[in-house]
Amino acid sequence: MKKLEMLYKGKAKKMYATDEPDVLWVEYMNQATAFNGEKKEQIEGKGSLNNRITSVLFDLLRARGIESHFVRRISDTEQLVRKMDMFPLEIIMRNTAAGSFAKRYGVEEGTPLKKPILEFCVKSDDLGDPFINNDGLVALGIVTEDELAEISRIAYAVNDALTDIFSKIDVRLVDFKIEEGRTSDGAILLADEITPDTCRLWDLKDGNGGKDDDGAIEHLDKDLFRRGLGSIIPAYEEIYARLTALAEAEGVERAE
Ligand code: ADP
Ligand code: UDP
Repeated sequence: MKKLEMLYKGKAKKMYATDEPDVLWVEYMNQATAFNGEKKEQIEGKGSLNNRITSVLFDLLRARGIESHFVRRISDTEQLVRKMDMFPLEIIMRNTAAGSFAKRYGVEEGTPLKKPILEFCVKSDDLGDPFINNDGLVALGIVTEDELAEISRIAYAVNDALTDIFSKIDVRLVDFKIEEGRTSDGAILLADEITPDTCRLWDLKDGNGGKDDDGAIEHLDKDLFRRGLGSIIPAYEEIYARLTALAEAEGVERAE
């Protein structure tokens, strides 16, 4: 497979064309951003960790019957994916109140939710990724009713599978963001990345629900960077080590 021209440089990844029209070459960068790019830093090792974490997660999901754009990991920082026509949406799933949701409704971070909440934001850096409800999505023609039903079905299935995966490695899956798109043959699939950049992951190792004795959250995710709480690298390494051990224990086939 040949790497051709760069098609897009985002905040975390570079996307390249390949000599195969349906395949993209993705390079994970060391750049970390928060608050719509306002806070930005280069963090040595982040690209490699996220590339490896998302790869093992896509493998674990495939073993649970959830297909994605992931083809295979080709190096520390690179992977091949199926080229998709992306829905311009951040698809957010919440199991526990945290972040902007906790702030919006004035509830304490860590409050369990009686059911998972699926939220959509329109992907637009200029508009700050505004929230939109289901009617808004269809009314604006961003998706059809049928697409919305399938996008939502996949999001709930991903939540069930990820909740199972993270519970097996003593991590609380608080919330996460995914993206979906359409393949050239019309199927809607999970795409982009699933990493500690895009999930809130709280450490359950000491059996206290993800908070320490003083009530401070034990973050294993990008909130360490967003909130200036310390280096993300040991946390991301911990997530990667636990996921790899799980994949090995489950005998999951690895695409690399
Ligand atoms: P951002 O665009 O938010 O800065 P990234 O740096 O992660 O984010 O850029 C990756 C871009 O590639 C995103 O816009 C994402 O929607 C898009 N993308 C992810 N997976 C695919 C895919 N399989 N095919 C086409 N585009 C994809
Ligand atoms: N998220 C993301 N990209 C975004 C916005 C949110 O990956 O542009 C993830 C975030 O890491 C968290 C979940 O989506 O796991 C919910 O984020 P929230 O809406 O609470 O926003 P935040 O508090 O991060 O602003």
